[in-house]
Amino acid sequence: MSAKLIKGTEVREEILEEISAEVAQIKEKHGIVPGLVTILVGENPASISYVTLKIKTANQLGFKEIQDSQSEDISEEDLLALIDKYNKDDSIHGILVQLPLPKHINEKKVLNTIDPDKDVDGFHPVNVGRLMIGGSEVRFPPCTPAGIQELIVRSGIDTSGAEVVVVGRSNIVGKPIANMMLQKADGANSTVTVVHTRTKDLASHCKRADILIVAAGVPDLVKPEWIKPGACVIDVGVNRVGEKISEKTGKKIAILKGDVDFDKAKEIAGFITPVPGGVGPMTITMLMKNTLKSLKFKLGIA
Ligand code: NAD
Repeated sequence: MSAKLIKGTEVREEILEEISAEVAQIKEKHGIVPGLVTILVGENPASISYVTLKIKTANQLGFKEIQDSQSEDISEEDLLALIDKYNKDDSIHGILVQLPLPKHINEKKVLNTIDPDKDVDGFHPVNVGRLMIGGSEVRFPPCTPAGIQELIVRSGIDTSGAEVVVVGRSNIVGKPIANMMLQKADGANSTVTVVHTRTKDLASHCKRADILIVAAGVPDLVKPEWIKPGACVIDVGVNRVGEKISEKTGKKIAILKGDVDFDKAKEIAGFITPVPGGVGPMTITMLMKNTLKSLKFKLGIA
């Protein structure tokens, strides 16, 4: 058996088209577009490349986009004041502070200063609480888990009553996706198990999963014999396992591997995400969706 590939690159295009159409409609009716500010502190190359991609996507969708680059030695006080300025700016609906921040800045303090109604990353404790309560309380589901849920739902997989096993309990992937899948809601209603480094028998839990979501950051952690035949396997892991020369650019690029032994797993699973090209492209897409949602909340049309 060969699994159906869940291609994040294709689902991304589908969602971006939907966002684009809504942005045009809102612009015509209300004369406003979603506004997103990306605050980048310092010159970390990985952060620059993430931010560049975010800006490109926001521009492509017709958002108002501000890239606010600050030097590595900005004081915590000045950074908090900058966030406060955007909190008060009516043309800005989403504020994103690119992590990691330099060591002299308290990351928690910075994230907690963002107005929860502009926290399109969904990391503010208020939004974590709203997600936990579920239903109409939810404003901004964190982007990677929201992308995972979209991939599952748009692949036509029935989540109601499904055994979902999540490998990993981080605040940005494992815990929120587990919480989202157990809610009494469409695309959820699942029976959820979360496994982690202290779990006694990882294999026995994974083998029960109708939907297996793996976010551990360990290459090939999930063995093919742990996969239930026909299961949906969502591999969130992005592990750099070496370097190669790109055929396109002739430059050195990282060789990426997921947390699942893809080549063997695809012969057993019913659905599987590749790495790269699975969950990865969904994160920025969902950030755009949250920014649009923020504007819709403000206009009272969400
Ligand atoms: P993390 O390190 O914060 O958390 C990993 C979790 O996995 C921990 O809770 C840990 O208990 C669990 N874990 C680790 N090793 C394990 C093992 N051997 N057995 C059982 N559990 C184990 O990582 P994270 O931020 O949640 O990210 C996980 C992976 O997902 C990473 O590879 C990361 O790069 C990737 N990621 C991808 C995207 C994306 O594609 N957009 C976004 C976020 C994270």
